Amino acid sequence: MIKRFIQRVFGLRQAGPVRMPKGKHGLARDAISPAALRVCEALAERGYAAHVVGGAVRDLLLGIKPKDFDVATDARPEQVKPLFRRALLIGRRFRLVHVMIGGETVEVSTFRAADTGEAEKSEHGRVLRDNVFGTIEEDALRRDFTVNALYYDPASEDVIDYHGGLADLRKRRLRMIGDPEARFREDPVRMLRAVRLGAKLGLTLDSDTRAPIKRLAPLLEHVPPPRLFEEMLKLLLSGHASACLRQLREEGLSKGLLPLLDVILEQPLGERFVTLALAQTDDRIQTGRPVSPAFLFAALLWHEVLSAWRARELRGERSLQALESAMDEVLEVQCAKLAITRRLTATMREVWGMQPRFEQRSGQRPQHLVESPRFRMAYDFLALRAASGEVPADLEVWWRTFQSADPDTRRAMLLPDTGPKKRRRRRRKKAPGEGAAPAA
Ligand code: ATP
Ligand code: MG
Repeated sequence: MIKRFIQRVFGLRQAGPVRMPKGKHGLARDAISPAALRVCEALAERGYAAHVVGGAVRDLLLGIKPKDFDVATDARPEQVKPLFRRALLIGRRFRLVHVMIGGETVEVSTFRAADTGEAEKSEHGRVLRDNVFGTIEEDALRRDFTVNALYYDPASEDVIDYHGGLADLRKRRLRMIGDPEARFREDPVRMLRAVRLGAKLGLTLDSDTRAPIKRLAPLLEHVPPPRLFEEMLKLLLSGHASACLRQLREEGLSKGLLPLLDVILEQPLGERFVTLALAQTDDRIQTGRPVSPAFLFAALLWHEVLSAWRARELRGERSLQALESAMDEVLEVQCAKLAITRRLTATMREVWGMQPRFEQRSGQRPQHLVESPRFRMAYDFLALRAASGEVPADLEVWWRTFQSADPDTRRAMLLPDTGPKKRRRRRRKKAPGEGAAPAA
């Protein structure tokens, strides 16, 4: 603490990088993906520096399989691109090259320069555009956490550590490089990364890093919605969504992400529903089964839709119309903060909109519902509602049985048609311009 204070006041940094040689760090060369190795070799052949960096080095040192591989180099994007047959220049805030080899994409970034105040910033200090290139030392200083600033050199097989990341990994500690407050101001998304990486890697947030988060949480409001969405998706699909959400609430970060989620989590039914949905998602990811982001967001916002729906019904709106308007209302508020993509919101609407149809268990309707393309997802959603105690358990059992039953059993399972429903249907047919199945 005192040492760090002195370093900060006098602008001193820890003396030089630590170079840990092959055999001492436990990272085997064959654990690096063939595509990342090819990229490093191609760059090295032309005399450029090329290191595997960031999440992949960190994960491998922790014994976790990396999601993807990033390479850092002193070659500029326009020098990198022509070296590979399939490569794309991407990014605005940071320009990068995506190199595609086989089925893999390797992200190649050029060493960034230290923040000299030249980067374009928003009024809240957020970095908007920054393509000043620099040395590997400067690049290391620009990374967020010490454990993310480890460089693996495939040629020498050394791990180069500029900020004590190796020691932090041993201590299972997630620590910001530099002054945490300034770094969070530069990019508030780092607060979410801190929570996600802590949960995913089982690292504890260093106390100096953690201290300013509660106070700076409102800065998330100024982050562009698509970027928040992207980070939120990473968090929800990390396989540790339950732990992340708990931590987000503890750090006061959940409000800016899913407005009203805090309110939902305070109601016992809402909390149970969201908790079950996240636990189920984590379980599916950890056992390698696919998950649908649309299903997940539909679950996170369901109780919000439910309460808007009920409020409208109480005001005298017709039930199905009230549901439609409730969905619009919730998605509008939500998308302003967190740009949930249109493809997802379309599926979310379908899943929500199909829920009232599960109440109808007579005539042709159950058969039609089972045949609709989103039935499986909508049924899973119903199962979650039943498990959380929102709808009777026997409703879920009925649909579970019905969907796998043969035609005779299905017919025998149907409930008798009730009089008033028939009359309503006949009347409705006569009304001009009215569709028969509003939720389809
Ligand atoms: P994962 O891939 O598991 O999500 P990661 O740490 O690899 O985690 P990426 O988004 O792939 O995350 O970023 C790669 C590297 O780029 C990080 O390890 C870090 O060094 C750096 N980095 C990413 N985002 C930031 C940021 N917001 N601020 C500073 N450095 C960052
Ligand atoms: Mg990564």
